Amino acid sequence: MTTVIRASAPAKVNLVFEVGIIQADGYHPVNSLFLALNLREELTLAAGETGSGISIYVHGDTLPERHIQAVPTDETNLVYKVAHALASHHGLGTPDLQLDIQKRIPVAGGMAGGSSDAAAMLVALNEFYFQEFGIERLSTAELAQLGGALGSDIPFCLYGGLAIGTNRGEQIAELPGLQFESNWLLCISNQGLSTPLVYHRFDELALLNDFSNLVALQINSAEELATVMANDLEPAAISLMPGLAGLKSKLEDLGALKAMVSGSGPTIAALFESRDRCEEVAKLLNSEGIFALTSTGPSAGARLEG
Ligand code: ATP
Repeated sequence: MTTVIRASAPAKVNLVFEVGIIQADGYHPVNSLFLALNLREELTLAAGETGSGISIYVHGDTLPERHIQAVPTDETNLVYKVAHALASHHGLGTPDLQLDIQKRIPVAGGMAGGSSDAAAMLVALNEFYFQEFGIERLSTAELAQLGGALGSDIPFCLYGGLAIGTNRGEQIAELPGLQFESNWLLCISNQGLSTPLVYHRFDELALLNDFSNLVALQINSAEELATVMANDLEPAAISLMPGLAGLKSKLEDLGALKAMVSGSGPTIAALFESRDRCEEVAKLLNSEGIFALTSTGPSAGARLEG
């Protein structure tokens, strides 16, 4: 019988995103407070015919078709890259696999869609190697090390919950999860915003802040969470896409405790006290032609599904 393994992994939102001065290697160090959302990608892996390599099928009926079309199905897909890395780690060649990815996370929305698929793939392939060949499973920390070399958000998608990411965001320190369910509205722009361009504008604006001590944070309610939310890249994203400022104010006028550019944007993440109000505002925006989704957090990291 063919082995079939299913895994899922969460989207992320950056509650706090602090950015340091550009380093000699061209990267900016970051200090990020991540929250995993219950907007989960689902990946199904089945053994393929010998010599067939990896084939990837992507679908999803909760996202506009252009998001599905934007996902590569060749070796540039992050799932392919992590599969190759895990295979090489075990001294194996590229595995023969048929992959089915059910996408729920908007593509290029700063919500770690590709990284979430990669985290689900690492968990699924880890299990596949165990079931098919009896290869000892790698720990989450070992998978995070492999994944972190290929995408800085992959480790957080493996851990989920609430965590701090440092260096490029890939060094994860888990925090005790939020003790309440937080309600999120995510406004996804039709236009993209180039991440390198946002960092470049950040350098031009020279708005450097100190890194805070996120480890000591205690967040007990949505109201407290709203006071903590901050993103150093927001002024740069707004200066490149001025319409984001109006959308932020509109969401706060409609009842959000706080609305903020997520990561390098252009997605706006808005926190609501009430789930009902969050859903109502999403419906209103959708009726105005603005693509908005709702979700809740925290959510678990990448895991196998029965
Ligand atoms: P992050 O928040 O980690 O910066 P993102 O959510 O903004 O990422 P993704 O949805 O991961 O962005 O997609 C960014 C680009 O990565 C896409 O335009 C696509 O070309 C490429 N990509 C590679 N693998 C995937 C994948 N599995 N799903 C989506 N995009 C992928």
